[in-house]
Amino acid sequence: MAARILDGKALARSIQQRLAEEVSAFADQSGRAPGMAVVLIGDDPASAVYVRNKEKAARKLGMHSEVVRLPDNAAREQVLAAIARSAEDPLVDGMLVQLPVPPHLDPVELQHAVPASKDVDGLHPANAGRLLLGQPGGLIACTPRGVMAVLEHEGVELEGAQAVIVGRSNIVGKPLSLLLLARHATVTLCHSRTRDLAAVCRRADVLVAAVGVPGLIGLEHIKPGAVVIDVGTNSITDPALAERLLAGQLRRLERFRDKAVALVGDVQFAAARERAACVTPVPGGIGPLTVTMLLENTLIAARYRQGREQRRVGDASSMSG
Ligand code: NDP
Repeated sequence: MAARILDGKALARSIQQRLAEEVSAFADQSGRAPGMAVVLIGDDPASAVYVRNKEKAARKLGMHSEVVRLPDNAAREQVLAAIARSAEDPLVDGMLVQLPVPPHLDPVELQHAVPASKDVDGLHPANAGRLLLGQPGGLIACTPRGVMAVLEHEGVELEGAQAVIVGRSNIVGKPLSLLLLARHATVTLCHSRTRDLAAVCRRADVLVAAVGVPGLIGLEHIKPGAVVIDVGTNSITDPALAERLLAGQLRRLERFRDKAVALVGDVQFAAARERAACVTPVPGGIGPLTVTMLLENTLIAARYRQGREQRRVGDASSMSG
């Protein structure tokens, strides 16, 4: 039987409906909407699309949203000053630096300039450390949270399950390994030096691909009945590759022939359809959930801040009393 397709778009829509209510309740209570800022440096076309989507989604939910645009040749000091302004801005609860940044800038330095309390990407050492130590009160990277939301929604049994993640980045693979571990999965993290990747992947009850190599994961990597989560987002223009990876998806193949570009995942979709129990598609799988979790992280950051401010007021009044 063909694997079920896990509709990330529909799940994202239903989570966003709940978030819209929570945003409105927050605004009623605190007199302001939660706010998000994205720092965008340069004119990378893919980044421009991602940032537009984030901004649109935030506004739709009733959040305050702003994009801080800087030119491609912006000096390090200019970028750090822009980050510092958003960090100080009382209208901004959550912020991030859109990657990739131009080569003369150090992405890690810029990410660490975002204060932990506003770091909705979960990349600040204080947030990454909290996740590692299992401490509450931090912000956790959006894509791993999106993957967990799908697994939870599907009722996938994680306790004792073999979970294999291909990709060990700070933004996807590593934080996801910790979230799965916290749910008592037995986690294996694979990377470019892993020997016999297919054999390791074939052990997986839950297989997550977050690599950035179109169609890396094929039939030989998938255990029959596995849950396959495809995080990869790859834009392809090679007709031979498109014919191979979009085989059987006639409408998408036609669109590729028309536009000469297609978005595909790290998993060969036809292989997952044949062997897995369920699979997230690309597009329409983890992507919409990542944006949704960014919105939720902004709301979480706003609530933490509100809590801190209330505690400060409480402390001040108890001192004066
Ligand atoms: P990175 O480039 O930071 O990391 C890629 C990882 O894949 C590395 O750990 C690398 O290993 C590993 N890798 C590369 N080639 C192989 C191989 N042949 N076999 C096994 N492992 C390999 O990528 P990201 O984590 O940032 O992103 C991964 C993918 O997910 C990309 O396609 C990206 O576009 C997509 N993405 C999608 C999101 C969404 O919302 N849907 C959000 C974030 C990312 P090593 O460490 O040894 O170099």
